[in-house]
Amino acid sequence: MTIKQDSVVTIHYTLKDDSGEIIDESAPDHPLTYLHGRGNLIPGLERELQGKQAGDKLNVAIAPADGYGDYDDALVQRIPRRALKGVSSVKPGMQLRTQTEHGPRTVVVTRVTGDIVTVDGNHPLAGKKLNFEVEIAGVRDATAEELQHGHVHGPGGHHH
Ligand code: ZN
Repeated sequence: MTIKQDSVVTIHYTLKDDSGEIIDESAPDHPLTYLHGRGNLIPGLERELQGKQAGDKLNVAIAPADGYGDYDDALVQRIPRRALKGVSSVKPGMQLRTQTEHGPRTVVVTRVTGDIVTVDGNHPLAGKKLNFEVEIAGVRDATAEELQHGHVHGPGGHHH
């Protein structure tokens, strides 16, 4: 069975940056299971997996535009500390939910200087080329309920 729109796909994967450092990987006994073609994976990886089958191994390099997007300087904002009501100690590395003109977004505090807090709303992997090693462990058809929900049920999937 080959991977097509609405296949349920199970993969083992390792994601490395350009220096070869591992950014993310699936645990050996806990592969990732997802519903194909519904935007559950980044677009570049879904495109590479399309038409492949169980047992196939892939090495793919995905450009930022097909991954988590290009780095956007406009998402870096400097805000007064007093705007962060209810946050007691603001430190670099801290994640915050903020309201932006594009709706609520998770931002990371990158700098605190006096009363000014610099936050970055880019995805941590924005602007990065993504090097995936993927092994396809399984492919099956989705159930009617999975198609209705837009995600996978059972091992490796969501539970309701
Ligand atoms: Zn569900």
